[in-house]
Amino acid sequence: MTVGVLAFHGDFAEHIQILEDLNVKSKEVRSLQDLAVVHRLIIPGGESTVISQFLFASGVAEEIRRRVREENFPVYGTCAGAILLAKRVTGKNPPRALGLMDMTVNRNAYGTQRESFEATLKIPGEKTPLSVAFIRAPVIERVGPRVEVLASHKGHPVLVQEGSLLAGTFHPEVRADKRIHELFLSL
Ligand code: GLN
Repeated sequence: MTVGVLAFHGDFAEHIQILEDLNVKSKEVRSLQDLAVVHRLIIPGGESTVISQFLFASGVAEEIRRRVREENFPVYGTCAGAILLAKRVTGKNPPRALGLMDMTVNRNAYGTQRESFEATLKIPGEKTPLSVAFIRAPVIERVGPRVEVLASHKGHPVLVQEGSLLAGTFHPEVRADKRIHELFLSL
């Protein structure tokens, strides 16, 4: 199995490092050719507006949509990646998103960079909590009936799953905690 990490922009290198630590083959994805040889995809954090432009200009966006629809292609979006998976994005300058998960995400809802924070989260099936970073994170404001909330923080869902799609508003890779990646690999 090869796990693709969308590598147009953002902190894709940290995700590749975690996959390496887990002994999972990874590949940076920047084109349709790259996408064709991966079995799963991680969309990293960064600027969702920037990632969105590359996604749609390269044709990779349409192919991700097709594979999710026709093959249940597993995709994990973190932070900007979670924004891009959403059906509806609110907040200032919302990017064109993939629109794959039935949720509304408010971009930069916590404020500016200075309002970034760390938190510990309870994850189902895990005894010890996870320490994660919320970096200019979005807030998931609404989820549809098929979206399962796996973790919440201060009343808002922060890790959600809909079929083969997983979205988290935080960065697990900053502290190199591998458990969310393991969860994604188990989908
Ligand atoms: N604020 C960024 C955006 O809206 C997301 C931040 C992140 O991925 N850490 O694109």
